[in-house]
Amino acid sequence: KVRTRFAPSPTGFIHLGNIRSALYPWAFARSQGGDFILRIEDTDLERSSQAAVDVILEGMAWLGLDHDEGPHYQMQRMDRYREVIAQMRDEGLVYPCYMSVAELDALRERQMESKQKPRYDGTWRPEEGKTLPPVPEGVQPVLRFRNPLGGSVAWEDKVKGRIEISNDELDDLVIARPDGTPTYNFCVVVDDIDMRITHVIRGDDHVNNTPRQINIFRALGQEPPVYAHLPTVLNEKGEKMSKRNGAKPVTQFRDEGFLADAVVNYLARLGWSHGDDEIFSREQFLQWFDLDHLGRSAAQFDEAKLRWVNAQHMKMTSDETLAALVAEQLRARGIEPDARLAGICALFKDRCDTTLVLADWAQKFYRPVQPSAEDLGKHLGESVRPAIGMLARMLEGCDWTPESIGAAIKETLRATGLKMPQLAMPVRVLVMGTPQTPSLDAVLALSDRKEVVSRLLMGQK
Ligand code: GLU
Repeated sequence: KVRTRFAPSPTGFIHLGNIRSALYPWAFARSQGGDFILRIEDTDLERSSQAAVDVILEGMAWLGLDHDEGPHYQMQRMDRYREVIAQMRDEGLVYPCYMSVAELDALRERQMESKQKPRYDGTWRPEEGKTLPPVPEGVQPVLRFRNPLGGSVAWEDKVKGRIEISNDELDDLVIARPDGTPTYNFCVVVDDIDMRITHVIRGDDHVNNTPRQINIFRALGQEPPVYAHLPTVLNEKGEKMSKRNGAKPVTQFRDEGFLADAVVNYLARLGWSHGDDEIFSREQFLQWFDLDHLGRSAAQFDEAKLRWVNAQHMKMTSDETLAALVAEQLRARGIEPDARLAGICALFKDRCDTTLVLADWAQKFYRPVQPSAEDLGKHLGESVRPAIGMLARMLEGCDWTPESIGAAIKETLRATGLKMPQLAMPVRVLVMGTPQTPSLDAVLALSDRKEVVSRLLMGQK
């Protein structure tokens, strides 16, 4: 059974580039009938925060990236890591190294001077017939992994193809610090083994860790999983996307009125493709997703494109669903919407690229509007004012339907000899605060009659 995971470090608010590393393993698990596991890698106590964990959980819940297991927290698995360390010690897979920081620095300097790659030289690695230096007093050793000597580590990366690294490039990795706490690469391997992960899909900033991790897998008698290392996501300036250079937290896109399905659609295409298909539903994505069509080059985030994708999804989303989202936005502004909201969404959704923009339109039906002096001056000349007063009085008594409202408008045009735009523009400005609206009879029918009449009567003066 396929088992994938997302293993974020909660050291900052995750952004869209990060969450793409959750989307693909999630989609792969879902499309294969497998399990998706969430693991929070929170061992960096200084940089990890609960607020960052919350954004991960909220962001994933919002996007519908549901997990079957977890969240597991590495900090709660310390006993397990210590157990494996003890076992590796018993089996001679690790050894204590007493080299001090000062000695390591000196070694590195010597290597740099002779143009060698800095690496641990194996001083404390026990070998047959080798005498180790005398153990210094009062020094707590680190534990180092006995990396294989000679040969190479290779894997068939689902994105990058075959990668082969000579073991000579890899020195003996520290897996436990002097105080016994386990180190990063080691924890990842223990977790991936215990969680029975079959496919590791993650950012290619981890590709250098992979040969080390594979060696630890094998030392523990386990076959490593399949790896797929995703190319970086660049920001709009072409830099690696990161919170440090201004990437927004995932949840901010929700607050700015993006639809979860649109974000999923956009991120799906940011590093994976299905022919020329640009706009698709979550269900289609899960049907199509595979590891063979992951992109090999860096993808660039483009918010304008995301807005366009969102606009397409706004059109595909039911009025009721949109109304529920817009209602939340309105309530946040202290407005309690009513049954008209779905109709308002139906009328305006085609001209909105986010639900926030849609909420701005909807707000006009619940709160006073402020037409600009420019629009008033341009559209509300002396000659049109009697017609507005006449329309207001007709609207006071007619049926409140688009048909009857349309008839009242026509009647007013007939009686005054005005052309449609001459009347419709000032009415729009007075009722909606702008001359650009959908069909006037539909807009008015969704508005409150009393409100419309009073706005028109005020405007005709
Ligand atoms: N915790 C790592 C990160 O946030 C991911 C580790 C992994 O996927 O193996 O970059």
